[in-house]
Amino acid sequence: MRIDLHTHSAVSDGTDTPAGVVQAAAAAGLDVVALTDHDTTDGWAEAIASAPAGLTVVPGMELSCRWFPADGPPVSVHLLAYLFDPGAPELAAERQRLRAERLSRGERIVTALAADGHPVSWTRLVERSGGGVVGRPHVARALVDAGVVGSVDEAFAGLLHHTSPYYVAKADTDVLEGIALVRAAGGVPVFAHGLARSRGRVVGDAAIAAMAGAGLLGLEVDHPDHVPADRDLLRGLAGDLDLLTTGSSDYHGSNKTTPIAACTTDPDQYARLVSLGTGTTPATA
Ligand code: AMP
Ligand code: FE
Ligand code: FE
Ligand code: ZN
Repeated sequence: MRIDLHTHSAVSDGTDTPAGVVQAAAAAGLDVVALTDHDTTDGWAEAIASAPAGLTVVPGMELSCRWFPADGPPVSVHLLAYLFDPGAPELAAERQRLRAERLSRGERIVTALAADGHPVSWTRLVERSGGGVVGRPHVARALVDAGVVGSVDEAFAGLLHHTSPYYVAKADTDVLEGIALVRAAGGVPVFAHGLARSRGRVVGDAAIAAMAGAGLLGLEVDHPDHVPADRDLLRGLAGDLDLLTTGSSDYHGSNKTTPIAACTTDPDQYARLVSLGTGTTPATA
C-alpha cells in the first residue's frame, strides 16, 4: 500500500486541479492520497468526486501557523490537519482569516516589487489565481512570466526569500491554538516538515514537546526537504512523545520539481491516523 499524505492543488499554490492531483496520484500507483491545500477545504469535493476505483482520498489541509519562542521573533510553522469537520465554525473562521491575510500580504509584496520597476500586477495575479488561496509561488510565477527571474526557485532564493526587503510576514495562527482548533473539529494535527532548514528558521525539541502537550498527534518525518539525520531525529522524538509519523511528497505540480509520491507513509501509521480522525472519513470510490 502506497500512501502520500501531503499534496497541493491550484485551489492553493499547486498547479494541477484537484482532479489533476488525484489523476497524478493514480498514475504514480498510490493507493491513498491526501489533498492538503493551504488554509482551505475548497478542493475536497472535486478530489473525492474524481477519484478512480481503488484510490482513497483523505481530506486534509495545511494550516499556516507560527510558534512564539520565549525569546526572539515568531517562527513560521505549518500544521497539517486531517479528517476534521469542514463545518466546524471556529476552524472555518480561522482559515477564512488566514486567506484574507494572504491576500493583503500578497498585495503588499507585489505593490512593492512593482514600485521598484518589476513589471508585476496584483490584478493580473489575482485573476490567474482563479480565486484560490494566494501564496508566494503565485508571485514567483508572475516574476517568471515577466522575465524578472528565470525560475520559481530563483524567485524564492532572491526577491521572495524571507531575508529579502520585499518579504512580508503573515499574521499566521499561533500553532498551539491551531492544534486546539483542529482537535476541536475532530481532526488529526500533524506538524509539517518541522526540520526543513532550507526554508528558514526551525523550532527546537521543546517547541515540539509543547505542541504534543497541546494535542499534536503526529510528525511529518519523511519529507523531501528533510535530510536523513533530521528524519532520524524526528522519528526518535515521535517515539519519545508517542506521536505517529507520516511521509509525503508535498507535491505542488509544476511549481516545484518534487514528483508526487516522492516520500510515503507507513500503512500502520496511516491506520493509526485514520483511527484518530472523527470529523470526517477518507473517501474511497
Ligand atoms: P507562503 O505560504 O506564501 O509564504 O509561501 C510558501 C510556499 O511556497 C510553501 O507552500 C512552499 O511549499 C512554497 N515554496 C517554498 N520554497 C519554494 C520553492 N523554492 N519553489 C516553489 N515553491 C516553494
Ligand atoms: Fe505551498
Ligand atoms: Fe508547508
Ligand atoms: Zn505543503
